[in-house]
Amino acid sequence: MYPDHQAGLWVVERPAERPLPIVFDCPHSGHDYPADFGSCQPLEALRPAEDALVESLVARAPDYGITVIRALFPRSYVDVNRAEDDLDPELIEGEWPAPLRPGPKSELGIGLIRRWVVPGVPIYDRKLEVAEVQARIEGYWRPYRARLRTLVDELVERHGRCVYLQWHSMKSVGNAATPDGPGARRPDVVLGDRRSTTARPRLTGRLRNLFGDQGFRVRVNVPYAGADLLRVIGDPAHHVDAVQIELNRALFIDEDSVVRNRRYDETKARIEGVIEALAARPLP
Ligand SMILES: [Zn+2]
Repeated sequence: MYPDHQAGLWVVERPAERPLPIVFDCPHSGHDYPADFGSCQPLEALRPAEDALVESLVARAPDYGITVIRALFPRSYVDVNRAEDDLDPELIEGEWPAPLRPGPKSELGIGLIRRWVVPGVPIYDRKLEVAEVQARIEGYWRPYRARLRTLVDELVERHGRCVYLQWHSMKSVGNAATPDGPGARRPDVVLGDRRSTTARPRLTGRLRNLFGDQGFRVRVNVPYAGADLLRVIGDPAHHVDAVQIELNRALFIDEDSVVRNRRYDETKARIEGVIEALAARPLP
């Protein structure tokens, strides 16, 4: 029903051989900026909101039997990792036609529709029309989630279980729009399982060991425990274990110019070490 490449929306990469029960998701790495974005910022100013290059770090995962989906549209256009109603009404012109429940992410200015690139750099100099936001939900948010769901469901059907890992990047130092606040320094990797609710602890523990084996400093659930997609997809009692992986940007990217830094190749090799070890024993 769904194609593996949908222009502007997603790319799905599948293993050539029999797939393992693992899906990788890169929901924030997209940089096909839709023509109707209507931001007041130039493209270069918007790019720091992306989890840029994360998809390239895990690009070889299909060679190990892992299915990968990545978003092509930018997370600053509409964030698939937020609930549909996690929307700040202040961003909207007029009345939203359904009840809204803006949560902590919206309060930080990073809800379904993002207020800031980084604090002090607004994405819009206008309010958004209701129809405009609805079109982003119907045209991007909903189809992406539906595509992801079918990938996970297919593997559960085939193997009886599925591991869902979501790949992100975090700034090396927190700011006013991050849960840990300005100046907070981050470890290399933060794993999130929404405090042991979206994955069996032995999966999170195993991932912690696999990253640790590659020399990464790892923390769990602090400051990032996982957001809405993890909540929706992760259901360990019903065969799906879901963990979010936040990679410190200083490990692979120049945070201002959004290009590879000199640690990129080494970091990618270490991440491939994690992927290879995971693929050798895919289920917790
Ligand atoms: Zn992200």
